[in-house]
Amino acid sequence: MYQFKMEVAMAIVAWACTAVGQNLPLARSHDPGHHSRGNYDMTDLQAKLSSSAKIYYPNTTEFEAASARWSLLDEPTVNVVVVPGTENDVAETVQFANQRDLPFLASTGAHGSLTSLGKMTQGIEIYMTQLNTVTVSGDGKTATIGGGAMAKAVVDELWNAGKQAVTGTCECVSILGPGLGGGHGWLQGHHGLVADQFVSMNVVLANGALTTINAKSDLWWAMKGAGHNFGIVTSLTTKVFDIQYSNWAIETITFSGDKVGAVYQAANDYLLKNGTQPVGLINWSYWLNNPGADPNNPVIIFYIIQEGVTTVDSAYTRPFHDIGPLSIQPASGTYTDLASWTGIANNQPPCQKAALANPRFPIYLQSYNVDAQTKAYNVFANAVRGTSALNNSIFMFEGYSMEGVQAIPSDSSAFAFRSENILAAPLINYLPAGSTLDSQVANLGNKLRDILRDGTGMDDFRAYVNYAYGDESLQELYGCESWRQDRLKALKAKYDPTGKFSFYAPIA
Ligand SMILES: Cc1cc2nc3c(=O)[nH]c(=O)nc-3n(C[C@H](O)[C@H](O)[C@H](O)COP(=O)(O)OP(=O)(O)OC[C@H]3O[C@@H](n4cnc5c(N)ncnc54)[C@H](O)[C@@H]3O)c2cc1C
Repeated sequence: MYQFKMEVAMAIVAWACTAVGQNLPLARSHDPGHHSRGNYDMTDLQAKLSSSAKIYYPNTTEFEAASARWSLLDEPTVNVVVVPGTENDVAETVQFANQRDLPFLASTGAHGSLTSLGKMTQGIEIYMTQLNTVTVSGDGKTATIGGGAMAKAVVDELWNAGKQAVTGTCECVSILGPGLGGGHGWLQGHHGLVADQFVSMNVVLANGALTTINAKSDLWWAMKGAGHNFGIVTSLTTKVFDIQYSNWAIETITFSGDKVGAVYQAANDYLLKNGTQPVGLINWSYWLNNPGADPNNPVIIFYIIQEGVTTVDSAYTRPFHDIGPLSIQPASGTYTDLASWTGIANNQPPCQKAALANPRFPIYLQSYNVDAQTKAYNVFANAVRGTSALNNSIFMFEGYSMEGVQAIPSDSSAFAFRSENILAAPLINYLPAGSTLDSQVANLGNKLRDILRDGTGMDDFRAYVNYAYGDESLQELYGCESWRQDRLKALKAKYDPTGKFSFYAPIA
């Protein structure tokens, strides 16, 4: 059993990542110098920036590290990186860019992977990394977080202060990247999405003005779900909570692919229960290759996670044991262990910039359609097994608790999909090899998503903006209600009429 567990662990390490052992991409697929650096004389900006700001130019180690991205598929091209030392530095940089008609893009965790980012063919990257402070308020109800803060740093700082907040699950994504698109995390069952926690924020608007907004602003609604379209958040005040449960437990149960129908039937019957999954319970699963466990087909790694216990309740796990898994691996610890248990800690493969293309094809689901899961598994297995160029791919199913999300009125935010219980997405990982392979991957991803959509009985689908491939419609990303579309378009026309913030899931 132990040997097998090690093999599973290694397979998780491998999924992303034949290329993890490879070096960071030193030569990018684009030519950062194709707009000469002469076009980017930064002297005037340098004079206005704080003493702690930095400017990195191409062909330097600093530039390469600061502009490396998680996914190379249609990545943005930048000619210079500005690293603001203060919130005002962000405003100065946007004003400078506007005066010279240069595109700009904020970057924090660089995990954004929408193909729309590729429409940035030159410009200034505003790398937010130095704006990373976390300060808990005197009354302990909020924290003010720098616009470049990363999830792990925030979780750890708050934990040390006896606090926690809704953040993304993965240690190496930022707070604002996920949060501006809604933001899913372990604690959403209690408190709602990352965006539901926002209290106020400092934001640099398209005209370069640094302003403070809160619920009184007409822009507030849009920042909670479509925020990437409207500004660069330089700091955020957000709700925090006393730690309610420090202990958490997980069971990692691995199945061979022929059990797919039984596994997702059990997930529906014993965990999801028609959208009533308890607040402290989470189901996640991955389909991925693990030749040590099954040399022929991807395995199903099913996680059942529970708060406030040292062993996951057998009422949840026994039905899965009864299916006949390949292995069962329990663990217990604290909230801060969740990322490493699920393979998304800072030192694990999804957090490495491994020179891969990593598109996803997300779809929200109400429940698992067992026939669709089976069909999708077979198509996925055919495409990724063995020596396929796509054999590091992973199909992800994230079943968070939804109570806190659904307790918040649907019309309170631009995030439109509060009624959905599962976030599913094939994540197709591959070494870039040209447009033919890119097209094959897009066909595969769309086919898999279509199978799951067919299983919902709907003609259309709903996609999490932060997982989007990049060519989804506005209705698919932001909701099909015409009032939502009208409101978003009106705000875009008011706050960003020339589309300065239109590289990431653009409204216009
Ligand atoms: C391994 C992995 C795990 C993930 N886990 C989760 C998860 O648990 N929950 C979840 O909801 N999502 C998750 N995501 C999706 C995640 O929300 C998106 O990938 C998001 O774009 C990442 O933000 P980032 O700062 O890392 O990336 P970036 O590419 O730096 O930013 C993404 C977008 O946000 C903009 N942006 C960044 N910082 C700011 C700012 N301060 N102000 C305004 N705009 C800004 C950027 O301009 C860009 O358009 C995950 C993604 C990956 C790859």
